[in-house]
Amino acid sequence: RAKGMGQDRCMLFDEAMREQSLQSLELEADLRRAIINNDFLPFYQPIVSLADGSVVGHEALLRWQHEGRGLLLPGEFISLGEESGLIEQVDWLIYEQVVRDLAGTASGYVSVNVSPRHFRSSEFATRLFGLLDAAGADPGRLRVEITEMALLEDAPRTLRTLYQLRERGIVVQLDDFGTGYSALSYLHRFPISALKIDRSFVAGLHADNGKSTQALVEGVVSLARTLGIETIGEGVEDERQLRTLFEMGCNFGQGYLLGHPMPREVTLHKTE
Ligand code: C2E
Ligand code: MG
Ligand code: MG
Ligand code: MG
Repeated sequence: RAKGMGQDRCMLFDEAMREQSLQSLELEADLRRAIINNDFLPFYQPIVSLADGSVVGHEALLRWQHEGRGLLLPGEFISLGEESGLIEQVDWLIYEQVVRDLAGTASGYVSVNVSPRHFRSSEFATRLFGLLDAAGADPGRLRVEITEMALLEDAPRTLRTLYQLRERGIVVQLDDFGTGYSALSYLHRFPISALKIDRSFVAGLHADNGKSTQALVEGVVSLARTLGIETIGEGVEDERQLRTLFEMGCNFGQGYLLGHPMPREVTLHKTE
């Protein structure tokens, strides 16, 4: 009897696994179709100066307008896109729209995200320059966000890309800082101009044991300042976090308190 139950459970497990892989196959097929139809769009979230509350730029955040399922967030398909290698094509569709949108706004920068493997591809920088040139857009108004994962492998190639971008005036910001294998030494080994303090640290500032998180964030902010690197606090959700970041000397903030990610029509036009 016990053996029979085990077998049943085994079959249920197989069934669940089968179901899951069918779903991801289906999603991958959807993703390929969505690339052909260009069913993606950037939402824009403001990045705000903590000194005077002005909007200095926006982060472009990928959204997928899925035929049957509505608006999908990156969390629902980005790992599939990375595993299948399809994310690079999605990224370029987003960058094209961002560069076009840049031309239509008076001021401020827009930052785009790039997956680690995509950033390491040898033509990343030149292809980006081509896109900017074709649109007549100012490279100084585009920023690129990479994570520490992008810096882990193939340092010579990564360095070359970072210097290519810097030469053209494109600022690179280190995203989700503190969640990876980081290493403060990255900050002077690589030409990084800004770092984004991960949301988990901002959330931790006033949580239990907030004191140690505060010490950590304060240390990162002051080291960055010494190195001439801008700091951006991510995931600012309340006034207390905002004030603490400001008092620590953090330069900029981003989060639901300051503005949600919104379609271009809503966000970018407000700053004009
Ligand atoms: P990220 O670059 O760290 O982006 C910040 C994420 O935090 C966004 O999630 C944003 O909506 C969310 N967020 C902003 N403020 C708050 C807040 O106050 N509270 C909370 N709880 N969350 C907040 P989203 O849009 O779901 O994007 C998730 C991740 O997907 C991004 O993290 C980025 O790593 C990746 N991603 C987004 N767009 C692209 C893209 O065009 N290409 C690639 N390769 N990756 C992208
Ligand atoms: Mg980002
Ligand atoms: Mg981030
Ligand atoms: Mg993050």
